[in-house]
Amino acid sequence: MDCLFCKIINGDIPSSKVYEDDKVLAFNDIEPQAPVHILIIPKEHIASAAEINAGNSGLVAHVFEVAAKIAKEKNLDGFRIVNNCGDSAGQTVKHIHFHLMSGREFTWPAG
Ligand code: 5GP
Ligand code: ZN
Repeated sequence: MDCLFCKIINGDIPSSKVYEDDKVLAFNDIEPQAPVHILIIPKEHIASAAEINAGNSGLVAHVFEVAAKIAKEKNLDGFRIVNNCGDSAGQTVKHIHFHLMSGREFTWPAG
């Protein structure tokens, strides 16, 4: 499958790895929008949050568990987790991913 993040998981495209286990990979975003900007992705190819169902929702829970672990390890003082789903929401890579961002003030509502 021609998927950028599957290629990163397979090691075909290099990444700056932050965390890995059998279910997820976390790596630094190539174009960081905050001092800390990590992408957490399931190793299973799921196109977007719209594809989450009873059979794979445990992966989302695991992503959040990993996010909390990374935040603790890095002593993050507050963080934001973002998922863009679909073109209108700004999703550019069609492999579900969660942006873990920290190290600056964030405004709300998000634009
Ligand atoms: P989206 O816009 O789909 O929510 O987020 C995609 C993210 O992937 C963007 O923040 C973009 O900077 C990041 N990205 C795109 N290509 C690469 C890449 O080759 N390596 C890494 N580490 N991040 C990438
Ligand atoms: Zn993929």
